[in-house]
Amino acid sequence: MTNQNAATTVELRLPELLERLQQLPREQSVLSVYLDISPRRLDREALLLAYRDLVREMRDSLPAGDALAFDGAAARIEAYLTNRSEWRGQSLAAFAPAQSDALYVGQLPRRAGDLAVWDTEPHTAPLLAILDDEERVALVLFDSEHARLFTVFLGEIERRTEITDRVPPRQKTGGWAALSQSRFARHREERIRQHAHRAVAALTTMLREQPFDRLFLAGPDEAVALLRRSLTRPLRARLAGTLRLPLTAGDAAILAAVHEAAQVSERKHELEMVNELIEEASGGPEADAVLGADAVLETLAQRPISQLYVAASLQRSGMECPSCGRLAAAAATCPDCGTAMVPRADLIDPLIRQAVRRGATVEVVSGEAERLLLLHGGLGAWRR
Ligand SMILES: [Zn+2]
Repeated sequence: MTNQNAATTVELRLPELLERLQQLPREQSVLSVYLDISPRRLDREALLLAYRDLVREMRDSLPAGDALAFDGAAARIEAYLTNRSEWRGQSLAAFAPAQSDALYVGQLPRRAGDLAVWDTEPHTAPLLAILDDEERVALVLFDSEHARLFTVFLGEIERRTEITDRVPPRQKTGGWAALSQSRFARHREERIRQHAHRAVAALTTMLREQPFDRLFLAGPDEAVALLRRSLTRPLRARLAGTLRLPLTAGDAAILAAVHEAAQVSERKHELEMVNELIEEASGGPEADAVLGADAVLETLAQRPISQLYVAASLQRSGMECPSCGRLAAAAATCPDCGTAMVPRADLIDPLIRQAVRRGATVEVVSGEAERLLLLHGGLGAWRR
């Protein structure tokens, strides 16, 4: 079945998406939408409901003359959400220019929070923040004769280099004199050392041309130890560990190993951040951090917060003021405007949305950090 009004949808990797958006003609309105597509949203109905909520809120505040163009742009994004079945990453960014039938879409490796912006230029700040924040990782698969160098960025292999140096085979026992045996061994060792130096030189070029944040090595222990000793100071400073990968590993295995290493370090980082939050929050009412639903909702209503922490599995119902949007764990009337509050099955989505709209960043934490945060109500925030 074909649809004559079908949008021209262009899915792009982030750097290309940004480039494309910068080329859009100015002075025309664009609907920019960021949506959480992390596992708790995998259900399409939940995703569509969240999107419609976002669009409805937005539409109420539009200049009357914009409604038609806005509806067209919003329908293009809704059609995309309805038809698309495969999601990667944590968030989706979609940009629908008013005066065209095009739709530009990218999937983001991090949460950007739900957000809709209708403006005369695409809202790219969250995209830029993610690109700035995303680590570029280098990996070297190394043995005595081969070096395979890769950089990985945004979940894809970005660059690859291979170096092969023939090294004389290990000496078999035989008719050689002991002296010539040891000379031969030294020669072989020297060749492997040169091979390591060539790998280091290639890595240094990569680092200069496209700086990476972390370096992983993989290969037989002895060869990797030699390579590690040959690293220059800037490379050593980025060395993050060794990975278990065969020298002939294919792209999928390489990406999986790098992804797993990144997850481990991300979890560790989250745990440190949550520990810091809890320590600050224990400092009493003057502390810069608060914990628990009541304190976080109260803080969000009173003053700006810079960062919101949410345990990934947290589910909470609560109350919302239909008039001013005030959220509360339990209150019959709005503490701010006195309107009767209405119950909401999910308080977390609107909470995250309000925090993002007021300029906070949102960290949804998993693993050990999540368990720890759940002991404190699953929510925390830093005041600004
Ligand atoms: Zn209210």
